Amino acid sequence: MAVIIWANCMVMDMTQDNNQPLDFIRQIVAEDCKTGKWGGRVHTRFPPEPNGYLHIGHAKAICLNYGIAKDFGGKFNLRFDDTNPSKEDQDYVDAIIEDVRWLGADWEDRLYYASDYFEQMYQWAVELIKKGKAYVCDLTPEQVRQYRGTLTEPGRPSPYRNRSVEENLDLFERMRRGEFPDGSRTLRAKIDMAHPNLNMRDPVMYRILHQEHHRQGNKWCIYPTYDWAHGLEDSIEGITHSICTLEFENHRPLYDWFIDAINEGRTEDGSGPWGRRIHHPQQIEFARLNLTYTVLSKRKLLRLVEGGYVNGWDDPRMPTIAGLRRRGYSPSAIWNFAKVIGVNKYNSTVDISLLEHCLRGDLNKTSPRVMAVLRPLKVVITDWPQDKVEYVEAINNPEDPTSGRRLVPFSGVLYIEQDDFMEQPPAKFYRLAPGREVRLRYAYLITCREVIKDASGKVAELRCTYDPATRGGEVPDGRKVKATLHWVSAAHAIDAEVRLYDRLFLKPDPEEVQEGQDFTANINPNSLQILKGCKVEPSLTDTRPLDRWQFERLGYFCTDLDSRPDRLVFNRTVELKDTWAKLVRKRQV
Ligand code: ATP
Ligand code: MG
Repeated sequence: MAVIIWANCMVMDMTQDNNQPLDFIRQIVAEDCKTGKWGGRVHTRFPPEPNGYLHIGHAKAICLNYGIAKDFGGKFNLRFDDTNPSKEDQDYVDAIIEDVRWLGADWEDRLYYASDYFEQMYQWAVELIKKGKAYVCDLTPEQVRQYRGTLTEPGRPSPYRNRSVEENLDLFERMRRGEFPDGSRTLRAKIDMAHPNLNMRDPVMYRILHQEHHRQGNKWCIYPTYDWAHGLEDSIEGITHSICTLEFENHRPLYDWFIDAINEGRTEDGSGPWGRRIHHPQQIEFARLNLTYTVLSKRKLLRLVEGGYVNGWDDPRMPTIAGLRRRGYSPSAIWNFAKVIGVNKYNSTVDISLLEHCLRGDLNKTSPRVMAVLRPLKVVITDWPQDKVEYVEAINNPEDPTSGRRLVPFSGVLYIEQDDFMEQPPAKFYRLAPGREVRLRYAYLITCREVIKDASGKVAELRCTYDPATRGGEVPDGRKVKATLHWVSAAHAIDAEVRLYDRLFLKPDPEEVQEGQDFTANINPNSLQILKGCKVEPSLTDTRPLDRWQFERLGYFCTDLDSRPDRLVFNRTVELKDTWAKLVRKRQV
């Protein structure tokens, strides 16, 4: 596994920083704008294949492409690379549109589908046949592989390589008409079977696939390969900077070859037999995002969904954008993360605690604070006047002066966390214990006088007294009170279900397995814990799905999509403890 990267700006407050140097891609774009390479035009795109939900790696690519268009006053397209009907689906198209929109990337009216270009691509393929640059090959996929050779051995020419133009045109047209079965023939580019780059050894351009397409229906039974289609899609849309991940670096010569082959015999003004030259975008590669404790491949994510390891693509444990959203991530947290990790040319793995650090930075500023008790322990204030309810004032968000205050009901029967009481406290446990005094946040100081147990000996209730002179949690005589606990009033609290999440994988590198296993062997069996009977303060009555909160002392939470007014459900987004900040502090000393 590659080294975990330490983002270059890890010790800065990343949310404040506007003077980061330009990344290497923006440097190229800036230079192109200066030299007028594309007439000053900047046009990027995000080209997902609709064969799964988008994940945080895709978010990096979206932030990069849309961010560049925005920074340079350019345009950004959303284009579905829907060239492979066997794995694609309209549901994925819909989900992707929702996710890209949620992230805030704006394609305006430029939502495109590669399948709308099939006819144009077909015409260009015919043109390459006529130019003697493509041929129909009858080798089976297995034979094509055998003929291709290896990194150290040249390939062998296909016996069908020297078919006449007429025969090729005839066969290719009949392929399109559906005369041949799947896999029986392909159209291949005629390049060089001895080329050191295997991608250049007569790559396949079209394959026969009698399969319905989610947008084209049964119009086609031949489909372009990614290699043939991808550069052409960018050309058709006038994309200036085709930004993609590193694994396509050694496909670039092929994309260039295809466009050069189409442009052969074409001219700027369109005079001559082949017409006008087509646009030739510039491809730039960057390193894809990898994250610890995470798999980022649609194929593997699909396996998690289909294998029932998670509850769907938007399960809050999934690294999908839909999962992160449901978990409580905000778009700005993801944008901050993308900015902090930057872009570079070297594959590496980012520590997931950095993502969580960016998340906390954002949630800290924006999430209203409320009180919730996850594992309730009943507290009775014995000297509180019966039936009296007092409303104490609580700060909504100390980080946001505009957020105001709210009133929280306090009464003689409360709940606190079971964790906040110990009958025999060890040293350094400063919370409630028999005879000890603690502060209830925003309310009063209370002292534990009596512990009541149930038949099994478990602590069932605490009897406490309060000090009326400490209203609002003030200590008039300055006496030492070490702990401040959160609480809710029993009569006013609302029941809720709270879902706690842990990492989905047990190892930083989920692929690290023994022979015969796959990554699912590293799944954390305890990644989801459901707590019922939690108690939340009444201000949460009207919460809506995807509202974000800080439950005081417990972490950041988000109202789940399953939540209903009569059945509240919350997800814990992330705990308060920031392991990334701790790591950084350790490194600084
Ligand atoms: P996966 O391997 O997860 O299935 P993919 O690359 O096959 O992803 P596409 O739908 O083809 O998925 O990706 C759309 C765009 O997102 C591509 O331009 C690709 O380069 C980019 N992308 C995909 N994964 C990552 C990643 N982990 N980090 C950054 N960019 C990514
Ligand atoms: Mg792909």
